This record gives sequence, structure tokens and C-alpha cells, in this order.
Amino acid sequence: MRHNPLTMKYLLVITMSAFLSITAKASDFPDDLGFKSLFRIDSDSGIKGPPYQKIVDELKELESTFPEIVNVIEYGRSVGGRPLTIVKIQKKLTIEGKLPAIYIGGSIHGDEYLNIEDRLPKWFAEQSEQKGPVGNFLEKGGVIYIAPILNPDGYEKRSRTNDLGIDLNRDFTVIEAQVEGLKQPETSALAFFLEEDLKKEGRKLEITMDYHCCIGALLYPWSFKGPTLPSEQLIKHLNIVEAMKSTVGGEIKSGTTPTILGYSAKGTSKDFYYEHFGATSFTFEGRRNREDKYFDEHTKMWDLILQRFEFTSI
Ligand SMILES: [Zn+2]
Repeated sequence: MRHNPLTMKYLLVITMSAFLSITAKASDFPDDLGFKSLFRIDSDSGIKGPPYQKIVDELKELESTFPEIVNVIEYGRSVGGRPLTIVKIQKKLTIEGKLPAIYIGGSIHGDEYLNIEDRLPKWFAEQSEQKGPVGNFLEKGGVIYIAPILNPDGYEKRSRTNDLGIDLNRDFTVIEAQVEGLKQPETSALAFFLEEDLKKEGRKLEITMDYHCCIGALLYPWSFKGPTLPSEQLIKHLNIVEAMKSTVGGEIKSGTTPTILGYSAKGTSKDFYYEHFGATSFTFEGRRNREDKYFDEHTKMWDLILQRFEFTSI
């Protein structure tokens, strides 16, 4: 079929306008989820951190300051050969039974560093000696895992993806979304470590929070469809949403990914933690250029969560 040049010109104009309107819309949703990788929109958090090795060295120093409380574990290697590092904070186990675990992760998108995730280990370790909510949680046998930089290659290059160009927050196995993931070393090593370590100590993963940027929102499952959590699960999630709004900021939006962002994402970490471990799980989306100023508010939030959350395993 022969194309009329005028028709072709018209089609080109239509295509260009559609593209521009989509990119304009995408800039309203600067983080995460497809648009950015499709159109290469800059979602850089605007917050620069030290070299990755310095973060690891500081965690090791923390381990030597609190040898009874802090354990720094290399659970694998990234595509680029960097050590994957997780901090485990706990008191010596004196209690038997199914004990609770909390997991916090940062920079799975390497350019979304907030300088909250890497400061939390020190704060939790210092709190272990106080009689506050963190001290109580640890005293009762709770454990806190923190992996501050999940994508060290991306972090060093200020890139969303890993060294193979893969978005790691689409590489988790989520049966409900028909995604078979854990194909990258960064995601598979983390899932394997958590699975084994929780099993070894008979723990239940109760709460997970992955720190991202830059929507200013707290997102809960599912990432790929509307609000369909059973009411008991929904209430648990909403309680944490409330704790965040009253500490980190009332303007923080909350809901499922499609509700807040208008599109869906399959294979995300929070859906994996929710489905696989039965965790109350979140993606926190920080505020561009300034989330690091709210560190104290984040610590207040964790205090409040630990104070209020009804752990099924304590
Ligand atoms: Zn992200």
C-alpha cells in the first residue's frame, strides 16, 4: 500500500504529540515504574553519598563499636563484583519461639539514594542500649536487617539499573503477577540470604520498607493492581501509613502503586515480601533534594511503628 505523504505527515504530528503528552505526564511521576526507563526521565534523588566502599567501611566500624549487637554480612557480589552488604542488628537470643524480623532496604535504584538508609544502622545500634521501643523490640528477640545499598554498581554510577541494565525492582518472583524473577545476582542473593537466615533462627519477616525517590509517597501491595488486600492485611498497612504521616509528613501520599501513580509494575520487592514472607511491606518514595533533612522524623517513625505494631510473633 502506498502512503499519502500528507497522511504520513499527519500521523507523524499525532505520534509526536502523543509522545510529548506522555513525557509531560511522566514528569509528574518522576520515580520508578516504567515511564522513567522508557523515556529516560531523570529521577535522581539529588542527594549524593560517599563512595560505596566508605559506607561499607563505616558499617564495619559500627560492628566493632557494637560487637554484641551489630553484624555486617556480605551476602553476595553484584554484577560488577562489589560486595553486597547487609547489617543485622539483634541482641543475643535468649528467647525461643517464632521471633519477629524487620527489613529495610535502600538504593535498589542506584540513583535514588536518600542518606536515610545508611544512617539508620547506627541509630538502631545506639537505641539498643536505651529503654525505648527499639531497645524493647531487640530485648524481646526482634531483629532488624538493613541493606542500605542494594544496587552498589548503580549507586556508584548514579544509574537506576544494575551493570547489566536491569531494573532490579522488576526482578522479584511474584506469583500473583506471574513473574518469575530472582535472575540477577543482586536480587537472588538477597532473597536467598533472607530465606535462609530467617529459617535458621525461626523468624517471621513482619515489616519491610524499601527506600526510593522521589514521589513523596508510601506505597503498599500490590504494585500491579488496585487495592485488593484482605481487610486484616489492609489494616496493618494503614496503621504504618498513619505512623508515617504523623512523623515523616502529613503530605505523604499513600496507596497502591496503580492508585497513586496510575500505572502498574510487576516483580517488585514489596510484592515479593508480602506474598512470599507474609510481611506488611512498603515502598517509601522520598522527596527530591531534601529527604535527607528528615532523618530525625524517620527515626521517630520507626519508634512509633515498633511501639504500635502488633507483631504476630512476639
Ligand atoms: Zn525507585
